[in-house]
Amino acid sequence: MIKSQQRSSNIMETAIRPSIIMRKGHGSWVYDTQGKKYLDFIQGWGVNCLGHTHPIMVDAITSQAGLMLNASPAFYNEPQLKLASILAEESHMNKVFFANSGAEANEGAIKLARKWGQIHANGAYEIITFNHSFHGRTLTTMAASGKPQWKKLFEPKTPGFIKVPFNNSHHVKKAVSDKTVAIMLELIQGEGGVIPAKTAFLKDLKDIADQHHLLIIIDEIQTGMGRTGSLFAFQDSPITPDILTLGKGLGGGLPISALISTSRVDCFEPGDQGGTFNGNSFVTHVAAKVIKEILNPSVLTHVNDMGQYMKDQLHTLSQKFSFGKVRGKGLLLALGLGQPISEKIVKQSLEEGLLINAPKPDTLRFLPSLLVTKEEVDIMMNILGHVIQQVFRKK
Ligand SMILES: *Cc1c(COP(=O)(O)O)cnc(C)c1O
Repeated sequence: MIKSQQRSSNIMETAIRPSIIMRKGHGSWVYDTQGKKYLDFIQGWGVNCLGHTHPIMVDAITSQAGLMLNASPAFYNEPQLKLASILAEESHMNKVFFANSGAEANEGAIKLARKWGQIHANGAYEIITFNHSFHGRTLTTMAASGKPQWKKLFEPKTPGFIKVPFNNSHHVKKAVSDKTVAIMLELIQGEGGVIPAKTAFLKDLKDIADQHHLLIIIDEIQTGMGRTGSLFAFQDSPITPDILTLGKGLGGGLPISALISTSRVDCFEPGDQGGTFNGNSFVTHVAAKVIKEILNPSVLTHVNDMGQYMKDQLHTLSQKFSFGKVRGKGLLLALGLGQPISEKIVKQSLEEGLLINAPKPDTLRFLPSLLVTKEEVDIMMNILGHVIQQVFRKK
């Protein structure tokens, strides 16, 4: 039996963790210290986009480790310039700032929008964000997020975020004032339960932003880097960002994030933004190798094929157990269960050697490696079907 929590460790209890201890990983599989094997359909919340310890990453890490780790943010370095030029070319935006986590990239996006408001919009600073959105865990990105459980935590948080219901442009229109500088959103709310933005809603947002000269900030920390079947999710949507943030899969498992903007919007001056580890040679070199692999057309085709295959399989399972809808795109998928049993399923899956995640009590989320195989999807579906039967039998 896996115990629900290990109380004796020196790690702060900021999450409920099972007592197992992870040791190594390879592709879609991880192994704990007891030698038990798990099929990983979380991949550190999608960060290991090429799976665990992919040879491309091991090579990139090894070669850069012997060359240079950190030249200091006071100097340019080769890999940083190269990664920035790839991101600029692919996003059709041309200014990049590197950071170490998604929250830090979003924090920078908020700062940039506020500075832009000071210079170009009569000091406008308010940012419209959405209920159930997730933008990170710094005080300001918590304030921007629409997680109901966070409302009372760590008060007072940063002011200036107006929260409205997602997929409802009427409420966005009502929230715009002369203090508004930007609208910030995820194209698929990941932590919120894999809720996609509707196409009509996005078109409306674009119109509202055009009409009131607002910036569009798209948080693609979860949807970016090939996860939804295109390099960036916005490329398959009716809107384009003025400011884009990336994280999670960008480093293939190493900590790196990016804030990208058009040159029209970039108004940072020396001293406005920075960080000791930001844009270091080591992580930017590895990220450049990761993105090159994702840009291999066969990889994005594979993401779309596997996404469709998994969607069909989940749909069949859903019908069998009278569950709800399959949501999401590419390899960011969720199954609505229509009943609060996701925690039980996740727990039992762990026992059976499958790692999946429950963003909500009635939702399962799947974030496998972008290189996951059809056989691995079949194994996952088998375990999941078996686990659900067990959970129902125990009820
Ligand atoms: C994970 C996530 C973040 C926060 O990223 P961290 O690296 O944990 O700080 C922000 N926005 C979205 C959409 C995310 O999924």
